[in-house]
Amino acid sequence: MDYSSVIQEIYADLKKKQSVGKVAAYIPELAKVNPDKFGVTLLKTDGLHYSIGDSKEKFSIQSISKVLSLSFIFPKIGEAIWKRIGVEPSGDPFNSIVQLEYENGIPRNPFINAGALVVADIILSLCKNPKEEFLHYINQLVDTDLITYNNKVAASEKKHGYLNAALANMMKSYGNIHNDVDEVLDFYFHQCAIDMTCEELAKAFLLFANQGELTHQKKPLLSKSQIKRMNALMLSCGFYDESGEFAYEVGLPGKSGVGGGIAAIYPKHFSIAVWSPQLNQKGNSTLGMLFLEQFTTKTGMSIF
Ligand code: GLU
Repeated sequence: MDYSSVIQEIYADLKKKQSVGKVAAYIPELAKVNPDKFGVTLLKTDGLHYSIGDSKEKFSIQSISKVLSLSFIFPKIGEAIWKRIGVEPSGDPFNSIVQLEYENGIPRNPFINAGALVVADIILSLCKNPKEEFLHYINQLVDTDLITYNNKVAASEKKHGYLNAALANMMKSYGNIHNDVDEVLDFYFHQCAIDMTCEELAKAFLLFANQGELTHQKKPLLSKSQIKRMNALMLSCGFYDESGEFAYEVGLPGKSGVGGGIAAIYPKHFSIAVWSPQLNQKGNSTLGMLFLEQFTTKTGMSIF
């Protein structure tokens, strides 16, 4: 399969499109990004990779971090995690609070904000130095030491994080947050404020395409069953209330973030990361979705 020419062709075509959405502005620091950035990296499980555009430029991974925080903690806590978080799509926006009340403080899934806050709480309970250990884990996935928190983005989100604070407080009142609410929020804002490039994200997500194994380390980090569950969750819950649309258009498990990134995988074949900061109304990267739709359509490489 000549991925390189398909990627070049779609990239050149989409690059001509202009003003295809809005950069996230509810976290003021994110609004500073150049809206025309556009990068792609495809990384195959055999190590071959293809990059184009702004693929080496760091951006805020935001909610894509929710997959990495879950994969960090899942092997440590195992299936017990599902007593505190569900595995159903929410059909609601990522920061919605309505469902939480009538479902007694149990978030629908780990990829909406409420679910990721519970994951953050579990990380705080299980780690001595949560922020350091989580960052170390991500650097380990990518085989680097260059990945860091963007403190400006974290501070900006903290300043405007009223809804996340409301979610965390409501869950605390239901007994589903065990640590101090401010500490949970602080961890969560930092995990969302990690900066990565498309190349780094594709490398991190290769874990999920590669059955829980890293190419640079022998011992698997997650079991095959855990990888099955992670990928199922990405497919059903990875794209806010547009997860059905993404499965329909693209047909790959993945996760988006309001920084404009999307990371997706085709099990046993490849991981792919796309970044374009202009978002559609549901909060997903407009060009990112278009790119991936055309990519899986032209190559036939979707799980369906
Ligand atoms: N840090 C963002 C928030 O909590 C994440 C949003 C996203 O990327 O979905 O609002």
